[in-house]
Amino acid sequence: MQNNYYQPYYETMPYEEIKKLQSEKLVKQVKHVYDNVKYYRDLMDEKGVKPEDIKGIEDLHKLPFLKKDDLREAYPYGMLATDLKDCVRIQSTSGTTGKRVVAFYTQNDVDMWEECCARAITAVGGTNEDVCQVCYGYGLFTGGPGLNGGSHKVGCLTLPMSSGNTERQIQFMMDLNATILCCTPSYAAYIGESLKERGYKPEDNKLKAGIFGAEPWTEEMRRDIEKSLGIKAYDIYGLTETSGPGVAFECQEQTGMHINEDHFLAEIIDPETGEVLPIGSKGELVFTSLDKEAFPLIRYRTRDICVLSREKCSCGRTFVKMTKPMGRSDDMMIIRGVNVFPSQIEAVLLNSGYAPNYQIVVDRVNNTDTLDINVEMMPEDFSDTPKDIMNKEKSLAGSIKTMLGISPKVHLVAPKSITRSEGKAVRVIDNRKRLGINV
Ligand code: ADP
Ligand code: ZN
Repeated sequence: MQNNYYQPYYETMPYEEIKKLQSEKLVKQVKHVYDNVKYYRDLMDEKGVKPEDIKGIEDLHKLPFLKKDDLREAYPYGMLATDLKDCVRIQSTSGTTGKRVVAFYTQNDVDMWEECCARAITAVGGTNEDVCQVCYGYGLFTGGPGLNGGSHKVGCLTLPMSSGNTERQIQFMMDLNATILCCTPSYAAYIGESLKERGYKPEDNKLKAGIFGAEPWTEEMRRDIEKSLGIKAYDIYGLTETSGPGVAFECQEQTGMHINEDHFLAEIIDPETGEVLPIGSKGELVFTSLDKEAFPLIRYRTRDICVLSREKCSCGRTFVKMTKPMGRSDDMMIIRGVNVFPSQIEAVLLNSGYAPNYQIVVDRVNNTDTLDINVEMMPEDFSDTPKDIMNKEKSLAGSIKTMLGISPKVHLVAPKSITRSEGKAVRVIDNRKRLGINV
């Protein structure tokens, strides 16, 4: 595949120039926020830092962080930095981890966001000859509107499907020859499964690429989806607070996502101490949106854990790359004192030949944490005797124990008994929370 850029000037800008651009934008942005957002002005005053103290990105560390709780406290208008009459749109977080956050956009903000999505679509080979099927949810969730806007900008024929109604998704995909599919990875897996059930082979569809994100997914899941749909599967990352999907996107190398650094300044910090970590360290991703007008967040702590890298990329883009976030710091479960991410369990299941249909149930019985994992049987398990099934469960539990260091109970359950996701998959049920235990 060729190196396709949507905005080559920015996407291939030498790093020294990106830094200069970021510095200029940061100085302006800090002043804009200080002058217009009382909430952040108070935080800066508390820290004793004035806009004049910020002369470039080297001064970024002087500024206070913002957390999701700040946004919840400032709900709805407390972070707004422009007149409401200059705003044309709101979007809202999915509320995966608590009360929803509302973000505001001016027309310039919408354009910038859609351009970021257009970069992502172009990077996977999208052109005006493509048919782009968007089955992220439309509405308050940013997935649908973001990719829809990006697809328009690239000039693809856009199928604004939204999520759900898998029957119709498949019909339109086949009848209208969709070439690019955009949705959550869990929904992509479900569409792949549904195509197979209807007797389609991977080569029967015209899809060439998928742009999947909005939730954590493993490399194993990527391979699974690529195989079932006969495509290349690319990752895309973003969050409502900074705009939506397209903050970072994968290129043909598929080794992490380029962050659109002309718009978003990224840092990695130690989530415990807030200390800024050197490039290459694993930690919490923090973003400063450099030119958003209505909802410009400075040093926003995403709670997503990843690693940044500035290694040269074969696609020619100079933007820093982030690894796939393995989950948010608050997706991490502490089970019997051990840190566990659902993605670690997913990797073992898929490597052992199971489909990505599973559910993790955590509980506490007699003061001890329990970990149960329900996994759907594969069709070939049907003819198994109860003893065979028990052996398979034991073997899977053994592999998971090797990965995590703690023993789960694995239950092979009937096919189709775990609800499929059309948006962000819910993988964990933590009953300890219902018991009022702080986990
Ligand atoms: P919510 O925080 O309520 O889920 P959003 O819909 O804005 O609201 O989701 C943004 C979050 O989704 C990110 O902070 C991140 O945790 C997750 N996310 C988005 N894209 C990816 C991705 N490609 N890989 C892993 N996680 C992702
Ligand atoms: Zn690249």
